[in-house]
Amino acid sequence: MSGWIMNRKHRSIGIMGGTFDPIHYGHLVTAEAARGQFGLEQVLFLPSGTPPHKDPTHVTETKHRYTMTVLATLTNPYFEVSRVDIDRRGRTYTYDTLRILQQLYGEHTQLYFITGADAILEIVGWKNSESLLDMAEFIAATRPGFCLGEHQGRIQDWFASRKKRLNVLEVPAMAISSTDIRERVSKRESIRYLVPETVEYYIRKNGLYSQDVQNTAGAHE
Ligand code: NAP
Repeated sequence: MSGWIMNRKHRSIGIMGGTFDPIHYGHLVTAEAARGQFGLEQVLFLPSGTPPHKDPTHVTETKHRYTMTVLATLTNPYFEVSRVDIDRRGRTYTYDTLRILQQLYGEHTQLYFITGADAILEIVGWKNSESLLDMAEFIAATRPGFCLGEHQGRIQDWFASRKKRLNVLEVPAMAISSTDIRERVSKRESIRYLVPETVEYYIRKNGLYSQDVQNTAGAHE
């Protein structure tokens, strides 16, 4: 076998990073679209642990976000949920996450890190941002026609100057947002057809996002 073939990446795995507070159809459609477009063998959903840029007291308890992600992805045989960010202590940087996943999947696996375009716009400030570009391909999910302003050009130039590409995936269902769902629940409005039924039941059963119940006791269980 030639060296070139030996070095080829044989598998492509999607890493869907997000807070998922809660997970909704926008996330699921994004993951499925990325799977099709980039030929991904599997998409691994990674509910965040303690994101470096967020106040953990404003994020719903990890056990709830993890369970909702499992419930939402259950029926898709290509989707899995990982606890790799949840089970780590301290701030969870994507650099450390990707290092763990590289070790887990091996050198012949190409990782695709998928997340919201708003989050990717900040990547320059992430830990070891230059190295990140060698560890994975990046896919920024956005809704069609949504203008990310001058930042998009700047971030695309940053990728291009390092001979990398930022893949932008336009997903109509990304018009759904977790913030809007939380607000709807708090105002007792319907969230039907925005999240899978199982997630809707879970939110109601556990009183998540209703103002009278407090479920943000820190990011770790
Ligand atoms: P966020 O700031 O909560 O979200 C930014 C935007 O992206 C929101 O509009 C959000 O919509 C959307 N979004 C988030 N995850 C998405 C996904 N998987 N698919 C499609 N849209 C998504 O972002 P975050 O959740 O905290 O962070 C996203 C990922 O980046 C996480 O894996 C996090 O660990 C990583 N990150 C790493 C660093 C670092 O290493 N320094 C810093 C920041 C973020 P919804 O609210 O509707 O989801």
